Parts: sequence; structure tokens; C-alpha cells
Amino acid sequence: MASSSLVDEKHDWSARRVRDTFLDYFKERGHTFVPSSSVVPLSDPTLLFTNAGMNQYKAIFLGTVDPASDFASLKRAVNSQKCIRAGGKHNDLDDVGKDSYHHTFFEMLGNWSFGDYFKKEAIEFSWELLTKVYGIDPKRLYVTYFEGSDGLEPDLEAKELWKSVGVPEDHILPGNMKDNFWEMGDQGPCGPCSELHYDLREADKDGNYRNASSLVNADDPEVIEIWNNVFIQYNREPDRSLRPLPNKHVDTGMGFERLVSVLQHKKSNYDTDVFTPLFKKIQEITGAREYRGKFGHEDPDGIDTAYRVVADHVRTLSFAIADGGVPNNVGRGYVVRRVLRRGARYARKYFETEIGDFFSKIVPSLVEQMGDMFPEIRKKETDIKEILDEEEKSFAKSLDRGEQMFEKYAQKAKVKGSNDLPGDDVWRLYDTYGFPVDLTKLMAEERGLNINDKEVEEAQEKAREASKGDKKAGAVLVKLDVHDLGALENMNNVPKTDDSTKYGRENITSVIKAIYHNKKFLESTKEVPEGEQFGVLLDRTNFYAEQGGQEYDTGRLLVDDEAEITITNVQVYAGYVLHTGYIKYGELKVGSEVIAEYDELRRHPIRSNHTGTHVLNYALREVLGDEVDQKGSLVAPEKLRFDFSHKTAVTDAQLAKIEEISTFYIRQNSEVYAKDVPLATAREIWGVRAVFGETYPDPVRVVSVGVPVEDLVKDVKNPQWGKVSIEFCGGTHVKQTGEIKELVILEESGIAKGIRRIVAVTGQEAYDVQREAAEFGEQLNKLEKMPFGPVKEAEAKKLQLELNKLSISALTKTKFRDQFTKILKSILDEQKAAAKAENKKVLDSITTYFAENEASRVLVRKLEWSGNVNKAISEAIKTVSGPKGVLREKSVYLVAASEAEGKVVHGCYVAEHFSSQGASGPEWASHVAKIIGGKAGGKAGAPTAIGQGVHAHKVDEGVEEARKWIEQFKI
Ligand SMILES: [Zn+2]
Repeated sequence: MASSSLVDEKHDWSARRVRDTFLDYFKERGHTFVPSSSVVPLSDPTLLFTNAGMNQYKAIFLGTVDPASDFASLKRAVNSQKCIRAGGKHNDLDDVGKDSYHHTFFEMLGNWSFGDYFKKEAIEFSWELLTKVYGIDPKRLYVTYFEGSDGLEPDLEAKELWKSVGVPEDHILPGNMKDNFWEMGDQGPCGPCSELHYDLREADKDGNYRNASSLVNADDPEVIEIWNNVFIQYNREPDRSLRPLPNKHVDTGMGFERLVSVLQHKKSNYDTDVFTPLFKKIQEITGAREYRGKFGHEDPDGIDTAYRVVADHVRTLSFAIADGGVPNNVGRGYVVRRVLRRGARYARKYFETEIGDFFSKIVPSLVEQMGDMFPEIRKKETDIKEILDEEEKSFAKSLDRGEQMFEKYAQKAKVKGSNDLPGDDVWRLYDTYGFPVDLTKLMAEERGLNINDKEVEEAQEKAREASKGDKKAGAVLVKLDVHDLGALENMNNVPKTDDSTKYGRENITSVIKAIYHNKKFLESTKEVPEGEQFGVLLDRTNFYAEQGGQEYDTGRLLVDDEAEITITNVQVYAGYVLHTGYIKYGELKVGSEVIAEYDELRRHPIRSNHTGTHVLNYALREVLGDEVDQKGSLVAPEKLRFDFSHKTAVTDAQLAKIEEISTFYIRQNSEVYAKDVPLATAREIWGVRAVFGETYPDPVRVVSVGVPVEDLVKDVKNPQWGKVSIEFCGGTHVKQTGEIKELVILEESGIAKGIRRIVAVTGQEAYDVQREAAEFGEQLNKLEKMPFGPVKEAEAKKLQLELNKLSISALTKTKFRDQFTKILKSILDEQKAAAKAENKKVLDSITTYFAENEASRVLVRKLEWSGNVNKAISEAIKTVSGPKGVLREKSVYLVAASEAEGKVVHGCYVAEHFSSQGASGPEWASHVAKIIGGKAGGKAGAPTAIGQGVHAHKVDEGVEEARKWIEQFKI
């Protein structure tokens, strides 16, 4: 019996075969395979994500392609481009899951001709590939051509070509400007296009198909566009007119998932093996019932929808993260975060699965499926999984509570007889529980509720105003002084804070023990004037108070829906952990039980930087010797800073070694151990690092990277421990060094006599600086290859400024500086050689003139303009007028002008023949300057003068004046 399971179906046209066939077909026809460009266009901030195959070829179409790049000689190309449509103008996120064809991630198959073949071949290729190679019944295909409008002729050429490949006339349809004319933007390349549409309905029992021509481009779900061939033949000018392009191009795009569904005879893209392997994995992880491919009312438990959402989202998330689009709070990073949270909520609600490491479990399946075509996801698999887990864990902390709050708000609205969820509530869900507004909207829809976007914006605005007030008041940190501490000691019910849970990652509940404001201990936050900062002491806390160089945590203390305090700083005073911040809403009292929630997304990079500091400290000792002592350190979310004693600057070779050892330690993925040990024992451990002069508590916490603390303690004198990073440290650390990912040293400098400082980054920050460095390196290589000239000189100037500002690996920076110096020297050498050649040319032309016109006493000449002509003129004047000059008896006037730069340069020499009659250089030049503007220099009565003018367009008049003036003397 055939399997009835969608998920287990086998296909002749597997997704992989469909893709390979497309690529091979065009490769066999002279097309170069160009790998998909990054789906995250990091260098183009105006574009959230790559959303079309042509994006990477823009420069070719615009004619601005770098002549040194591979693309300059590219004539035919083929690829499958990764695309994301989520956030921004093209946002499919809200629809994903609900229907058969919306995706936030998809592939776009395309073939391109850049000034090579045009309509004829493009049409022949697409028809042959679809009907002969893929074997699609031509009776099910319809094609369109541009019908003409806005003064443009119909594209009858395309129509005829379709006929010539055998498409019957009633399957060739005219299309309007909207469907059949493609433009890149308000200006730029554009042209008519021809689409291929496919009729999904099967033939009747006699093998006949209905004629579906009336359903083409009519939003009919059963007649769908599969391929678009764009013929770029015009340029849209700034005045909106169209000018034919000298080079005509072909740009095509075919939705891969849709093509697969056609070839697998599916009405839904999700029923194909693009998605079914992912469904299988999701089922395996969640134990849910299997995917049945139902929609809307036919999917009452919502499970099929959830399958689609999760499978779509894991693709978007994995590819975005692999290309550097990490989740955060702005721009494309926030789109990625929204996608993850939407997916996590579906998984939690419909699959009832735990959130925290859900998506990462599906990733291996995706990598297996697509890693050959897109090796980047295989290469970045570990990173993808880690980032997904980190994000999920952080959202998981508030997901359930946010859902409960949502229920409460929904009930409240229902009781009021309203179908609208108030904007304040929607904002609260975002602000406190991290629910993206579109997620809340989706949840509201499920409950038949509406959201008023304007109200949400108003609530957001209100919150922004309120937080502005916070910042103003935040200038002075609330502190406990010796009197306050004395008072606390006398308060029986305020214990020193138990902060043992700061090493965990969970939210905890705590009881408020004291509220401190303006030197007083208060009973309630009500007593604090609005907008003012105050301190809170809890019985226990999971917040990390700033100490040992590690920065404090931020976060919130709250009672769901009743009150919330935003915590902006945490310090410890004699065992009392003081959380300082502002009331966001509501009232909290001494005795209130609150949820303590530190910001995990801030703690995460701090953790990585802290273990990174230990690894660095170890590597420093290995390279510079045991006498290196820690003199200070800072562990912040964005970087780490480490000060140490060392007499001389660390050399580049040493720096390289330090990075190498650190990287080795990180790659080993050593486990990080921490344990309290009696101080006396701990001090005995071989190779332990402690800060000289620091007093440590007893017992002291020992942090060891790679060897369990128990083992160290059992055998303290073992010299092997010298090869392990062991420190006394109260900070928070990664579980395994692999989480640090990379350690990149940005800076090594001296801060005082005998004290050096290293600044370094780890994790995502390190990836970012590496990417920036790689991008700059490419620019530098391009510069190196550029032909000499003003363009290269300008680019060099630009890059020099950029290089100075660049925050990248110190070693790479040095390498770049060396390379840059070489380039600069080659430019200078070239300039010098060019100048020398030009000087010679000018002088030669003067010598030649007087050789050919021996009797002539004077030469007035206009020279060709160049960047060096100014120099060439003054050199020539100097040579001619020189005491040993063979042309000393000849008078000369030289001029050159550039209209583009609005500059004129000129210079002259008056030989004795004329000076004896009263002529002088400055006088001669001043007559010319009257016409060309500017000033002419030279001592009164001197034989030579040099000048610069501004009226370049009057240069010929100036030359004429020079001639006339000298000719008034006796020749
Ligand atoms: Zn430490």
C-alpha cells in the first residue's frame, strides 16, 4: 500500500534535483555559476535583506561595476539566490503559516545575460527548460508580454518569439505596465518583461484542459506565475523619459519552492520535500501528530499551521544568522528577533514544547538538506545553534508570563465589551515581556481582538518621554555611605544580600527588604518623587553587582501587571547589593515579593568577555613571562580591557602569539569550573593568578578553565597546573570556552610607566570586527590594482581616513598600514615620475621652438592642463632664467587652464633684451592677471613672475594679451 503520509513521499523531481537541473541547464549553455550573495546585505544599510536575485548585479546593470572585479567580464550567469522577505516594505511575515505559498525565506532561481544574449535566447531557454527538460505539459503554460502604454510600444518582438517556440496564440496574453514592465527604482535600468504562468488544475478525463487565460494575473490560486523574464533595454532618466540602453540585459527569476511544487504536483509549496524533511524533524522533537497540509478551519488544532511557521522560520533564522544577521533590537536584527519569537510562541503554544533549545534542534536537518548548496550554513552550524539558544532562552524567561498577561488583558477587554486591546497593554507586552507588536497582533487575532497601531505608537511615545526623564536624573548614582551602612546594620529585618543565584541564569523571586532614597530608608516607592532614582535591597538577588572589573547587570524587578522597577545599575556595599533604578509603573513596598529579572542579553557578552579575559591573562603569561601581573581589568558587554605590568611594548610577533594561544584555548572548548576553596589551600595551587595586593575572601572562589577545581585542590603542587588558567574570581563565566568564539586584540598601548593595556573583543563583536577588516582588506586590494590617476589618489585619501578610524584587530591594522604605505609610495613614485616627465616635456617644447626659430626672442604658449602643470611651469621658468641657462636670452610666457577646476596657472621670464627696455616679469604677468583674475607674484622689476588665475574660460584672451604686451617693445 502506498504511504498516505505527506512527509514520507518520494519524488522523481526531488527539490535537490530540480535545483541542480536548473543550474546545470544554464551552465551547459555558457553561464557562470555565481554563488548566492549574502542574504544580509551588511554593506547596504538601506536594504534590510536581499529580496531578489538581481541585487548583487546592480552595479553591472547601472554600468558602475568595478573594472577590476570578476563581474566586469561576466557575460552569462546562473544561480539560486537566498532571499528574505520579512520586515520593511516586502513583509510576508504576517502571512506565513496561513497559506500555501508565503515564505519569509525562499530561493530565487535566475539566469542572466549582461549585454550578451537577449529576448530570443531567453525565451527559447525558458521554454525548453520547462517543457523539454522538466517535462511540464505546454498546455498548462501561459505566457505574457508587455501590451504597451505610457507611450511605449507593445513588446511584439517577445510575442513573436513565444509563437516561434510553439506557444499557441490563445496562451500568449498581453499584460499591463504593473505586471509586465519592470523598473529598478524611480530611475535606472528598466524594460518589459514576459512571465510564464502555470495552471494547477488537472486535465479532465479526456486529457483536455480548460483555457485559463482569463485567470492569468487575476489572483487566482490555481493559475500561478512561475517565472519572470525581464528584458532590460531602457534607462529611466531623471525627467522620467526612457532612453534605450547601449547594452541590453536579461534578468530572470523563478521561485524555487513554487517550481518544486509544480513538478511534484502539489498545490502547496509546503507539501514538497523543500519542507517535509523539516516537518519530520519537528515531529520527532515535539512528538506532535504528523503534518497533514491543512489550512484555516480544516486545521482546527492549528498544528499544521505551526509546522509551516516553524519550518519557514528556522530557514530564515539559520540563513540570516549564517550571513551575520544576528538578533538584536534594531533594524534587521530586530526582524530576526521577531521571527524567532513568533516561531517560539507557535512552538510553545501548539506543540507544547519547551523553549530554550527548540530551533537549534531542527538546524541539523536543514544543514543536511541545504548545506551542499549553501555551505555557509554548514560552516556556521554551531554559531547558528548557539545564537538561537541564547535568544530563545532569553525569551523563554518571559514567554509564559507574557502569555498570562495577554490573557488577562484580553479578559479585561472582553469584560468591558470591547474588541480592542488597549495600546498601553500592547506596549507593556512588548516592553516588559519582549513580545513584538506583530506577535501580540497575531495572538489578538486568534482571540478575535483588534489592535490599534496608533494607540500603540502613543504608548511607545509616552514610554520614550518617561525614559528621557530617567536619563536626566541618572547623572548621580545612588550610593550607600558609611552612615547608611551603619543604619542598615541596626535594622534587624534587612539581612546582607544572598547573591548566590547570580551565577545561575534563571529569574528568581525575592522580597524587597529596603527602599532607599535621598539618605532615607522608605517603606514604599510611593514616597519617591516621580522620575527620581532610588535604591532597592532584596533578601536575595540574581543581579551581578559591579565587582572585580565586571560591569553590573541591568534588568527589572516586578510584580506582573502591578508594578515594575527598571534597574539601571547594581553595586555592592559591605555585602548589601543595592539595585538602583526608577519606578516604571505601580507601587512596591518593603515586603513586596518581586520577580528579579536581569538582562540576559547584556550578561551574555559580558560572560564571554570575562572568560576571554582569563584566557588572555593566561596567554600573556605564556608569552611575556611569569612576572606579568594584572594591574586592572574591565569586563563590559562590548569589550574587555586588561592592564598588566610589563616594561616594554608588546611586539607584533608577541601579540600574534598571544592571540594564537588564546584562540587555541577557545577552540579546545574547555569547560569552565568554579568552586569556593579555603584561601590558604587556594594560594598553594601551582600557577594560580591572583592580583597582588588584593584581599580575598576566605573561602575564595577559584575559576579554572579546563580542569575541575577538585582536581587542582587534590594535588595543588602539580606543575601541570601551570598550563591551565586558574584565577581567584567572583565573576560570571561561559560554560565552555567555545562560547567565546573568537578573541581579537584591538589595541595594545602603554598607560603608565611599566604598565601596558590590551583592549580586546570576543563573540559576535569579534566576528563583526573581523568582517569589517575583511571588507576593508578587499577595498585595499582593489585600490592597489587601480591604474594610477586622480581617481586612485582620491580613493587612497578616503581609505586612509577610514583606516585611521577602523576598530579592528591591532595586527591586521598594522598589516593594512604597511600595505597602505606601499600603495602610497607607489602613488608618490608614479606622481614624481609623471611630474619629471612633464617638466621635461615642457622644457623640451621650449628648446625645440627656439631651435626651430633661432631669430625669435619670445615665446608665448598655452600648455595642456595636468595636475602637475603648475610645477612644470615654474620649473621651466627657473631653468630658462637660470644663470647657466642656454635660453637665457629668450623671453617666455607659459599658461595652462582647466575649466573643470576653474584654475589658470601662468609664469613668465623677461630676458635682458626686454628688461633693458623697461619690461619686467611682474608687470607682464599683471596685464594677463587683469583678464584671467587672481594674482601674479614676483618682486617689482624682477625678471620672473608666477601667478594663478580663476577665469579659465578667458585663458585664450589672456594669452593674446601676453603676446600683445610684449610686442609693444622693440623685438
Ligand atoms: Zn575573573
